[in-house]
Amino acid sequence: MPELPEVEVTRRSFSDAIAGAAVQGAVLGKPLRWPLGCTPGQLAGRRVLGVRRRGKYLLLDLDEGLLLLHLGMSGSLRFARGLPPPGPHDHFDLLTDRGVLRLHDPRRFGAVVWAPHEQDERARKLLSGLGVEPLDEAAFGFDAFLAGLRASRTPIKQLLLGGRLVVGVGNIYASEVLHLAGIHPATPAQRIGPIRARRLHAAIRQVLARAVERGGSTLRDFSNAEGAAGHFQLEASVYGREGQPCHGCGTPIRLLRQGQRSSYFCPRCQRA
Ligand SMILES: [Zn+2]
Repeated sequence: MPELPEVEVTRRSFSDAIAGAAVQGAVLGKPLRWPLGCTPGQLAGRRVLGVRRRGKYLLLDLDEGLLLLHLGMSGSLRFARGLPPPGPHDHFDLLTDRGVLRLHDPRRFGAVVWAPHEQDERARKLLSGLGVEPLDEAAFGFDAFLAGLRASRTPIKQLLLGGRLVVGVGNIYASEVLHLAGIHPATPAQRIGPIRARRLHAAIRQVLARAVERGGSTLRDFSNAEGAAGHFQLEASVYGREGQPCHGCGTPIRLLRQGQRSSYFCPRCQRA
């Protein structure tokens, strides 16, 4: 599943190229998670101003309105000239004078939604529940983070996955972050004191920033978001490494099921 770093790398892969492009229309495939909310004809004549990211949504700003794009479970975006006609899993093409922006999404949990502006209910419904951006230094302050931990009895892994405290710490990254911070995934959030919270706060930034960097370094060969996720998994410290030795202490990594998600951790380096 594309997580925040893959979405950010996707954004960087086409944001410069598409900024300023004139939209000529759109081609819709099978229905996605939510309806587009306008006709392809209504997009024709618009100009693309740029691409922002909020959580795992990409916001394609137009001179009138915006498109909110989500990659769902299996989606990937490509922006290129001379793409072949849409295949059976290509469900949205935005046609512009600089090329086609194509959403390829075999499982169709992804979405493209048009809204007249960001404060419109259609946009707010998708964006309003999101926590702060971990890579935005000003937004992701330590005091608010600590207060958020203090206010919750939820196991820390699940609190991070929920995305209301901070966005972007998906399942793979949550295991990696907690290992780096030395915190057991089942630890109730409010039991994490200021010193460990400081380590956790730093680990979130470090793991996500490194993943974006790594994805960014392969940007030239970047063809889809799943490729980037696979690349990250190869270098994971704990994720997917059950039974293999911890890089820190050699103890076999364990697997724990939490709310039907897999958590990988080192029983020696990570304390409750
Ligand atoms: Zn260890």
